[in-house]
Amino acid sequence: MPIPADASGRTAYELDRAHVFHSWSAQKALDPIVIAGGEGSYLWDADGKRYLDFSSQLVYTNIGHQHPRVVAAIKAQADVLCTIAPAHANDRRSLAAKLIVDVAPEGMNKVFFTNGGAEAVENAIRMARLHTGRTKIMSAYRSYHGATATAIQVTGDPRRWPNEFAPAGTVHFFGPFLYRSVFHATTEQEECERALAHLEQTILFEGPATVAAIVLESVPGTSGIMPPPAGYLAGVRELCDRFGIVMICDEVMSGFGRTGSWFAVDHYGVTPDLITFAKGVNSGYVPMGGVVIHDDIAATFDERAYPGGLTYSGHPLAAAAAVETILAMHDEEVVANAARVGSEVLGPGLRELAERHPSIGDVRGLGVFWALELVADRETKEPLAPYGGASPAVNGVLAAARDAGLLLFNQYHRIHVVPPCNLSDDEAREGLAILDDALSVADAAVLRA
Ligand code: PMP
Repeated sequence: MPIPADASGRTAYELDRAHVFHSWSAQKALDPIVIAGGEGSYLWDADGKRYLDFSSQLVYTNIGHQHPRVVAAIKAQADVLCTIAPAHANDRRSLAAKLIVDVAPEGMNKVFFTNGGAEAVENAIRMARLHTGRTKIMSAYRSYHGATATAIQVTGDPRRWPNEFAPAGTVHFFGPFLYRSVFHATTEQEECERALAHLEQTILFEGPATVAAIVLESVPGTSGIMPPPAGYLAGVRELCDRFGIVMICDEVMSGFGRTGSWFAVDHYGVTPDLITFAKGVNSGYVPMGGVVIHDDIAATFDERAYPGGLTYSGHPLAAAAAVETILAMHDEEVVANAARVGSEVLGPGLRELAERHPSIGDVRGLGVFWALELVADRETKEPLAPYGGASPAVNGVLAAARDAGLLLFNQYHRIHVVPPCNLSDDEAREGLAILDDALSVADAAVLRA
């Protein structure tokens, strides 16, 4: 077969449909946009149509597309050394580790590098099991931790269901979520106390001496962006300390500025034993993830070998991108910008939309990390799409937004507003205005019912 010289536009679309096997999808009905380029908060397709990227792709371009400093750093590193195995030291990798540790909580001084989030979770779990000599892992039902074997087993949400091939040694529990409280709580404080009591009972009935780790997203992301009530993470920390359980905070999505702090745990003053990260560490310009390791866990492997590793761990191109991303985030005060845009523009703007759109049941979030919960009925809170599924009404909102030049992140009946951390106020307002119009599709479905 002749190889097409130009794979842009129509050719790229056709080659994609013929040969690219896409994630999480039935392959037949797909209709991807051919993205040709991007800059900052915008992308454009092969026909030159522009899109404001309120998805940050899969919630990872925290410094936007094509940040010139990061692009230059990747090019410069490519000229020097494209790759080196993990056993050697490399200046970009060393510096990336130092910069990551500097923004992590006190006492967390080592970084194990991976190629993404799921591998970070796999390795954090391995560390916890080896450190405690126990096997069981506890995690929240409303959670996502990645699509590799163990990471999908600890994932609580419906993406786990078709993936349960083997006995898992995992136990799920309910985290706090006042809007749909399974504890019949009416205040955040009640929700917090009852969720902690439920977690304590679950540990006691599982047998504390069998539980190696509790893994939880500091602010659950794809399961609905549910900032925990004040005191919840501190309560989990206390239970972990009491029962000798390793506390793993998964910050793959919430880390590196997304919530308006470097790590989401910073809002709650909690130091976990292990933090998993990926995505925002270098805005996904080159794949990278990892585990930030507390000194207490790191010491387990001072004399004893750590039985795990990855060929591309700490890859120099990814590390060069991480170094420059973190430096640019410091210089440009990107984290503070995420906090400010969230509290001054996005949060108030989304709450104002909720006043006018009957399809919005709940608005929650912080920083540039917001969810709209779309419901068929505000009283019953019946979701506008089934748990684990899709609906024409929600798809209609996404399509209307896309037609008007706005990309959103969607999970089941929820729309996630997750733009880059360096979004400007004007860009935030532009996206809110398009979303405002697109939501009329969901309102129409609600009013018809
Ligand atoms: N943990 C969390 C909290 C995530 O949001 C994700 C990805 N959405 C992962 C883990 C898995 O990361 P990756 O897709 O890079 O393997």
